[in-house]
Amino acid sequence: MNSPSKTSPPIRIGLGYDSHRLGRGGPVRVGGVDIPGDVHAIGHSDADVLLHAITDAILGSVCEQDIGRLFPNTDPDNRDRDSVDFLREAISRLHGKHYAIGNLDCVILAEAPKMAPHIDVMRSVIAETLGIEVDQISIKAKSGEGVGEIGSGLSIAARAVVLVHKV
Ligand SMILES: [Zn+2]
Repeated sequence: MNSPSKTSPPIRIGLGYDSHRLGRGGPVRVGGVDIPGDVHAIGHSDADVLLHAITDAILGSVCEQDIGRLFPNTDPDNRDRDSVDFLREAISRLHGKHYAIGNLDCVILAEAPKMAPHIDVMRSVIAETLGIEVDQISIKAKSGEGVGEIGSGLSIAARAVVLVHKV
């Protein structure tokens, strides 16, 4: 059995969070899907909050450096980059440490556009990228109910938690 160290536990968890400012004019990229509407997320890469939160959760589960250090926004190579690339790097590092994903649970926080109709497509994109089944991925969407930066449509955020197990 491949084991990174004798003391490494059989299961671990990782937590990820991300937010981006919103600007006028759609679409907004969330979970690898371009969602039509009046806003887009502002960022150096494609500013996909959900994929960034998941990437950080996976990296964090095995104590790898976070997305900002692996893919600095000062690097021109990361400009407008497809965040699927970041996710691929994270899963490769996870496998390199001999862990695999058990399940992933996520929340998107956005006032608009509505995320719910696109969640199943996001799950398919993420499942394919990570090489796992759709039923290992849960994604929920919450509105800000008019309160704060998210509720007033100034920003979008996402949280993700992942459980990983030794293989
Ligand atoms: Zn981000």
